[in-house]
Amino acid sequence: MKVLVPLKRVVDFNVHIRLRPDGSGVDKTNVKMSMNPFDEIALEEAVRLREAGKADEVIAVSIGIEKTQDILRTALAMGADRAILVTAEEDVEPLNVAKILAAVVTEEKPQLVLMGKQAIDDDCNQTTQMLAALLGWGQGTFASKIEVVDNSVQVTREVDAGLQTTRLSLPAVVSADLRLNTPRYATLPNIMKAKKKPLDITTPEELGVKVRQRLTILETVEPPPRQPGIRVASVDELVDRLKNQAGIL
Ligand code: AMP
Repeated sequence: MKVLVPLKRVVDFNVHIRLRPDGSGVDKTNVKMSMNPFDEIALEEAVRLREAGKADEVIAVSIGIEKTQDILRTALAMGADRAILVTAEEDVEPLNVAKILAAVVTEEKPQLVLMGKQAIDDDCNQTTQMLAALLGWGQGTFASKIEVVDNSVQVTREVDAGLQTTRLSLPAVVSADLRLNTPRYATLPNIMKAKKKPLDITTPEELGVKVRQRLTILETVEPPPRQPGIRVASVDELVDRLKNQAGIL
């Protein structure tokens, strides 16, 4: 079984985001970029499936600018067998990403696409669902446990009411939630080995996809600053403040 793992290059989760002065978006100049954390979890799971003998090959794929090769090399060092970069402008919308991924799926014919539940930069949480719809495959989103059984995958999903277990026939698209696993670090020897692993570069046009952006960002603003907390002397004061200042009671 081949597993395809789509990875997005995003602003590192430790970075304090700054906005461009004209409000047109996030300023990424000289900012540390990394693999989207949920995608790291998806990749770890794919590598574990291969290590357990349930998968034969793990292919990492990313759609982004030339520099995106850095996260693909990290993916190769974490255990992906090969990587594909589809070069595109920055900030490709989920529907375009899904269309490009569908074209990669048509070429590579994986049995399982294992991706992150959402990208932490735009928080869209759309690409998995769109990809599954475009392919006409089953989808198991927000997975906290994955088991490949014969020709199906059993996915335990984190839903509001608790955990829901579903079984999907393969091929299928599954998205990883935070508690699925703890990703490994890429070791120095594996980083060195990763330099020799194959990384193919292609374009949406070569895959037969025309990228057409449909969304326009009108404005990006900082959230309102949080009011500092205060220490109250007694329960009476707390109740009084909740009633008369916060207007909660
Ligand atoms: P989103 O719908 O933008 O929240 O992204 C959900 C998931 O889709 C991510 O966790 C990635 O696995 C995948 N994805 C989104 N954008 C890209 C991209 N540019 N390249 C590869 N995978 C992506």
